[in-house]
Amino acid sequence: MSFNAVLVTKDDAGKTHAAVTQITEDQLPAGDVTVAVEYSTVNYKDGLCIGPGGGLVRNYPHVPGIDFAGTVEASDDPRYTPGDKVVLTGWRVGEAHWGGYAQKARVKADWLVPLPEGLSTRQAMAVGTAGFTAILAVMALEDHGLKPGNGPVLVTGAAGGVGSVAVALLAALGHEVAAVTGRPETESYLRGLGASQIVPRADIAETVKRPLESETWAGCVDAVGGAMLARVLGQMQYGASVAAVGLAGGAGLPATVVPFLLRGVNLLGIDSVMQPYDNRIRAWDRIARDLPLDKLDAMIRPATLADLPRLGADILQGQVQGRVVVDVN
Ligand code: NDP
Repeated sequence: MSFNAVLVTKDDAGKTHAAVTQITEDQLPAGDVTVAVEYSTVNYKDGLCIGPGGGLVRNYPHVPGIDFAGTVEASDDPRYTPGDKVVLTGWRVGEAHWGGYAQKARVKADWLVPLPEGLSTRQAMAVGTAGFTAILAVMALEDHGLKPGNGPVLVTGAAGGVGSVAVALLAALGHEVAAVTGRPETESYLRGLGASQIVPRADIAETVKRPLESETWAGCVDAVGGAMLARVLGQMQYGASVAAVGLAGGAGLPATVVPFLLRGVNLLGIDSVMQPYDNRIRAWDRIARDLPLDKLDAMIRPATLADLPRLGADILQGQVQGRVVVDVN
């Protein structure tokens, strides 16, 4: 029985092509659980893997999709039985292993988590890797002392996937949220998610001129990196922390160490891919408890497999707002 997948192929000239293609179950990679995928989503990394791969994809042809939610169809692992609802993020699925842009996926049981109670498979993919990463960032800031009332928390790349979920989560937890965006037209969307202050990207994008500026932010979830992250470090309150999540604005860090030495600022690295199982469960529980579902619904942009080649290019241009939810069926 064949089913639909977005298959990325590479031609003799080394150029990649992504198209919806019929594939069969025996083409799926080895794994102990076969999942009937219901929803997937579009993250920045998916944009890379739908296109030339950015060095992430090992072999072609390839099925991208770094996350998915669906129902177990067959399982050789005692932890899962047919009919169980499951979610997958990370573990290099969609990069080194075929991913969620297909009606079926076969993966290792170790990579799955049960669908969190209170979320549908569609809502789980509205959260997706981006939202899962946003809660990891918020948890890291909390572990380093962030509390409501400490002052405004900055979110960079705010209208993107990680940023949108971070804004909604922080606001729901009682924080004052300042959202950095390069798209002024997203202001009402961001205020709807709970941002009380909009910071134009241009105000904070310039390279560091003074290593310390006035102490403004009580915390920061940074999806942008580069010059913006360097600048933010010098604007943090004494002892405050920045969770470094992404590199949408660049992988460099043209900073000085002065904010670390004179203000005790912490730079916390966030990785969603290799998170251990127990912390994944803790993070999904927090999402189910703390993320208001009406705010999540407001972020959703519905899509189908056929939309993915276009959406992959859009997200690399910073043109996707909120969370795309792909109905693969
Ligand atoms: P999105 O494209 O949805 O969001 C990124 C946002 O960053 C854009 O919407 C835009 O927001 C802003 N942005 C884009 N380009 C620039 C630029 N040149 N300068 C400043 N701001 C810019 O991507 P995601 O939210 O899915 O991912 C965000 C980042 O986080 C990516 O780098 C991704 O690789 C990384 N990531 C890391 C993970 C981890 O495990 N550490 C997991 C998931 C994602 P606006 O228009 O509001 O300015």
